[in-house]
Amino acid sequence: MSFPVYLIGARGCGKTTVGKLLARQLSYQFCDTDQQLQQHLDQSIAEFVAQHGWETFRQQEHQALLTVTSDNTVVATGGGIVLRDDNRQHMRQSGAVIWLSVDHQVLASRLTADPEMEQRPTLTGRPITEEIYEVLQQRLPLYQQAAHHCIDANQPPEKVVIDILTALSRDSLTA
Ligand code: ADP
Ligand code: MG
Repeated sequence: MSFPVYLIGARGCGKTTVGKLLARQLSYQFCDTDQQLQQHLDQSIAEFVAQHGWETFRQQEHQALLTVTSDNTVVATGGGIVLRDDNRQHMRQSGAVIWLSVDHQVLASRLTADPEMEQRPTLTGRPITEEIYEVLQQRLPLYQQAAHHCIDANQPPEKVVIDILTALSRDSLTA
């Protein structure tokens, strides 16, 4: 196995945290589309969205996804990467797509405890718990469509990594 492994899922599901651990286990590189974007844009995502709007941000995010796509790489994506059909197709065709599925209550408690929360723009301006629930409901079918595997990511990061490795090794046995 050498193809890219994409981690998808809601903000706060652990794509960055789990992605770094997974990359170490696989001896892969780790890339994060959000980090790639912030470097490329030379400003935070919140600032960019405030200035240019979500549509322009999604175009930039698409380019970032193409830029970081490479063999032997774990790619942590932004929570909204699945909104574009071309992103979903690109990921499915070029690698293994892993959905880190987390209950909305767990997401809310992680995000309110996360010191980097202010870096993340709210999508609607509504209270964070309501927003998480609604955004998740809208995106669930897209995560499902895009993913080759759904992993229970309510568990500790180390256990999530083990479950991903198990799913990937099952793939290579049946490939
Ligand atoms: P994402 O990249 O999907 O937005 P992060 O990896 O940045 O998510 O994680 C968001 C917050 O949740 C961080 O504070 C992180 O430490 C915490 N976190 C991530 N994964 C887990 C996990 N499996 N269990 C408990 N806390 C986690
Ligand atoms: Mg992240």
